[in-house]
Amino acid sequence: MTLPPWLSPLAVLILGREPRLRRHVVFVLLTLQLYAVCLGVIWHSQYLDIIPPGLAQMLSWASIAIFGSMYLAVRSGRTQHLADPVLTLPHAVISVGLCVVAYTQIGESRGNVMILIAQAIVVSMFRLKPAHVLALGLYTVSIFALAVGWLSWQDPQRYPWSQGLTHLIVGGATLLMLSLVAKWVSDIRMRIGSQAEELTQTLQTLQQMATQDMLTGLMNRRVMTDLLEAELKLAQRHGQPLTVALIDLDHFKHINDTHGHHVGDEVLKTFARLSGSRLREVDRMARWGGEEFLCLLPQVTAQDALSAIDRLRQAMADSVPLEQNRLRTTFSAGLAQARPDETLEQLVERADRALYEAKQQGRNRCCIHQDASGPPTAQPVSIVVEGSA
Ligand code: GH3
Ligand code: MG
Ligand code: MG
Repeated sequence: MTLPPWLSPLAVLILGREPRLRRHVVFVLLTLQLYAVCLGVIWHSQYLDIIPPGLAQMLSWASIAIFGSMYLAVRSGRTQHLADPVLTLPHAVISVGLCVVAYTQIGESRGNVMILIAQAIVVSMFRLKPAHVLALGLYTVSIFALAVGWLSWQDPQRYPWSQGLTHLIVGGATLLMLSLVAKWVSDIRMRIGSQAEELTQTLQTLQQMATQDMLTGLMNRRVMTDLLEAELKLAQRHGQPLTVALIDLDHFKHINDTHGHHVGDEVLKTFARLSGSRLREVDRMARWGGEEFLCLLPQVTAQDALSAIDRLRQAMADSVPLEQNRLRTTFSAGLAQARPDETLEQLVERADRALYEAKQQGRNRCCIHQDASGPPTAQPVSIVVEGSA
């Protein structure tokens, strides 16, 4: 809901800025109407001379103090880290306690108090856990029974025990029933809450599965293709350089065959980890398929991209993915810088040809498909960076 501009500062002052805090403060403010009714009953009883002014004042100040301290505690934000940030249980326990004290003091008007107690339980059931709702119901019935017993014992003339017992049975049964309904509502609320959480988690997992490669955590080919399409258009429109690097691990089949598939998996993960730490944040790596990766390097020429990818190649050659196997792995890479008018397929195709060239020349090296203008040549002109391994 959008507020008129003149109301916004007031809303910020009363509710705070943060949406979660605001929701909690609003919940506390909703109980204000209970306090208004409570004060109305007290003042009406005083007006009818049922209770003395001193007692009316005491009950009024106690109500204001309870509401004020609950509001300030929640509004200060200090309760935000608690499991029950709006202090529902302590608030309900104290207000029900005050209502029962009022019940013992306000004579003929005391029937009204039972409605207030019922309201306090109904308000609480939307926030409390089922067990807490039931505990609140039992607590209410118990102190109510104590109050009725105490009244009949103190003043049997004005409060005959038969009347007290009737109040206890009718009021107690109603409160107990309300607590059970409240627990039921609370149960349903909890179930819906946990189902919603499960659904959110499932959606997150599905989204991850649709966009990420599960083994390496890198983005998958589909997402990279979309990203590349967008970045290529942007680079071509602004006349900025953009380079792609197609990377293929060397002799990977041999690693699998010699050390097992799980070691192969570790090598793939090591490559993903290194690419995350060795490249710029704007450079994006995707698992293109099997042991092949595609790296998008925006706003750099193929020459500059070559040094970045070659640093990664060096880091990969120096890494030891599994200590016990003393295994070292290398990769070959083919780079191509986007031309002003070429399609994504053509660009990747040129990077692939450069990769082929790198493999042909003995692996563990990077090649650039280096015909920056004119039609692609059948044989890529390549700059080769010789590997040390
Ligand atoms: P080259 O140097 O020419 O690239 O040789 P290579 O052995 O790396 O190439 P080849 O394409 O013959 O082998 C790729 C291997 O990668 C075959 C396949 O079983 C393996 N591979 C593909 N995906 C995975 C994976 O997710 N985990 C593991 N461990 N191996 C995989
Ligand atoms: Mg391959
Ligand atoms: Mg390979």
